Amino acid sequence: DPRLARISSSIRVIPNFPKPGIMFQDITTLLLDTNAFKDTIDLFVERYRDQNISVVAGVEARGFIFGPPIALAIGAKFVPIRKPNKLPGEVISEEYSLEYGTDKIEMHVGAVQPGERALVVDDLIATGGTLSAAIKLLERVGAHVAECACVIELPELKGRERLGDKSVFVLVDGA
Ligand code: 5GP
Repeated sequence: DPRLARISSSIRVIPNFPKPGIMFQDITTLLLDTNAFKDTIDLFVERYRDQNISVVAGVEARGFIFGPPIALAIGAKFVPIRKPNKLPGEVISEEYSLEYGTDKIEMHVGAVQPGERALVVDDLIATGGTLSAAIKLLERVGAHVAECACVIELPELKGRERLGDKSVFVLVDGA
């Protein structure tokens, strides 16, 4: 698809952010390119519009940028999955391991009903820890996760292996 090259070239790479040795994939420059941003959302909408998805779950923070326009276009609700102690209502939490230590994400109880079909959206898959925790949250409340969708994959980190039988749809590989 010719749209993918434009999306890929609109993503800025910032070396040594937030730590030495990290090549940070900066999607804020994709958002400045109105064609690339629209193409990104369109590609996801084309894939998911006829899949009976009733929930788009977006992971803080950049899943909050890409998730809502997809949800609106396919007629699904949007559910934020957030860092700890941000959501005001009753939550369920899922901890996951990082290179050093652990992290946690949370979702409101009652936001998703048993039997709903969900799509998980984030900007990027690296080790897959974040997405696998998001899948667990949704499955714990009885939802079926149809797929995960990300703009960027860092394939050398083998994040897909952490997701078991769940598939990830990605648009481009990180530079
Ligand atoms: P994982 O849990 O797969 O190791 O890391 C993915 C999470 O870290 C995502 O929520 C993503 O937003 C963030 N992340 C890690 N590296 C980058 C990066 O280079 N660029 C961006 N935009 N996000 C990153």
